[in-house]
Amino acid sequence: MVRTALITGSTSGIGYSIAIAFAQAGYKIMFHGLETNGLEIAKEAAVKYNVETSFSNANLMHPNEVENLVKKTFETFGAVDVLINNAGIQFVSPVDEFPLEKWNSIIAVNLTSAFIASKAVWGGMKKSGFGRIINISSVHGLRASEYKSAYVSSKHGILGLTKVLGLEGAGSNITCNAICPGYVKTPLVEGQIKDQSKAHGLSEEDVIQKVMLKKQAVKEFIPEEKISELALFLAAENSSAITGSSFTLDGGWTSQ
Ligand code: NAD
Repeated sequence: MVRTALITGSTSGIGYSIAIAFAQAGYKIMFHGLETNGLEIAKEAAVKYNVETSFSNANLMHPNEVENLVKKTFETFGAVDVLINNAGIQFVSPVDEFPLEKWNSIIAVNLTSAFIASKAVWGGMKKSGFGRIINISSVHGLRASEYKSAYVSSKHGILGLTKVLGLEGAGSNITCNAICPGYVKTPLVEGQIKDQSKAHGLSEEDVIQKVMLKKQAVKEFIPEEKISELALFLAAENSSAITGSSFTLDGGWTSQ
């Protein structure tokens, strides 16, 4: 049976890598993201991996656009078997200067959109007797860093949602799990390297080694393909007993 995967934020970074891995594995893919070349990315993957794909640029800040994204996926493919809530944003500032609108956007994209999308796929998954929801949290779902109040709150929050959906899906073959990566070298992180290099007056290499990877025991970025492999494992037909859990891929960060 050919399954359908909706992966938010899949026209860049980790989401893109996951979407390509799922396309390679034969899934139908709903690509999604704000990148302007999203349609080309979806068409290219369809040709290269001989699978059906589509694309949406729904803005996840707006609840009705999240609902429409799920609706469009159902209308295009007839099902959403796998939902990967991956899209995420970051903003770094001391708490007393943290703008409320930045807090609200981060919570909307990183947490509320996952709730709305999960709610919207739930009925279809229940009816079909199969569902896999995978939330891309972060090591910051388990540990804090200074100046990331909204991001850390959103990533902790999504682990709570993961546990609740894991419980509610039990008995319906709907699982919900989270992946908590350490640093992965994507456009989101490349932006942070540049900002921190300017802010601290350090070279970009020093920012990577002395600031970013400081808390990871293994001083290497987490390869995107390991996250994709884990997502495929969690989405598998025989992964029904694995639910409500979070899986760290963090170079030993949370072992300390
Ligand atoms: P990225 O910036 O490369 O990609 C983010 C994706 O989300 C893009 O496709 C973007 O268009 C989409 N997006 C952002 N805001 C959106 C909005 N309002 N509406 C619709 N789409 C929107 O980032 P990434 O590094 O690949 O991060 C992906 C996920 O992994 C995020 O949830 C992030 O928090 C998490 N994560 C990343 C790292 C890392 O080191 N890169 C580590 C841990 C967790």
